[in-house]
Amino acid sequence: MRYTGAKCKLCRREGTKLFLKGDRCYTGKCAIDRRSYAPGQHGQGRKKPSEYSTQMRAKQAAKRYYGVSESQFHKYYVMATKAGGKTGESLLRLCEQRLDNVVHLLGWGVSRSQARQLVNHGHFLVNGKKVDIPSYLLAAGDVISIKEKSRESEVFKQALEAGSARPVPAWLERGAQAAEGRVLALPTRDQIHVPVEEHLIVEFYSK
Ligand code: SF4
Repeated sequence: MRYTGAKCKLCRREGTKLFLKGDRCYTGKCAIDRRSYAPGQHGQGRKKPSEYSTQMRAKQAAKRYYGVSESQFHKYYVMATKAGGKTGESLLRLCEQRLDNVVHLLGWGVSRSQARQLVNHGHFLVNGKKVDIPSYLLAAGDVISIKEKSRESEVFKQALEAGSARPVPAWLERGAQAAEGRVLALPTRDQIHVPVEEHLIVEFYSK
């Protein structure tokens, strides 16, 4: 059997596509489209999951989709409980506001993990200042741009070419040169595409 790599195993564990491998996720090579049962010897023919396990899996799926650690994700949950409004929706919105997520959505990283690496390497400015922290939370009105010098590098030439063909969500705007983007407004729930039911995550943490 062909080895599909650790990232695909995570999707199979959660039983849903988490889009962790960039363009491959949209092709017929996607492991979850080919085999939707969980990896491992007992992956097929499992019993009906318990309520706890369903809630835990939803939490794990969201964490993996955004590529954040347990402690960071729990911190977002605590922030979300204080934000007012629906806790689950606020939690997902905080994840969406991360700089690495926005860099990916603007088409500059094929996956969130590649976007995180690009941020770590200091290729971006936020409102004209260098920011190399992937978890940096963006606000409405923030302008993100690729550093002038970085635009010349091969990785960005390719990213700009590939990314400019990708549609950008309505809460973001990509500039004509594709090397600059803006947060028009924070996303509403219907603009967030993580494949989880967030009330399950809230139930998991509020036990
Ligand atoms: Fe692998 Fe992407 Fe499919 Fe997940 S969505 S199984 S990472 S190809």
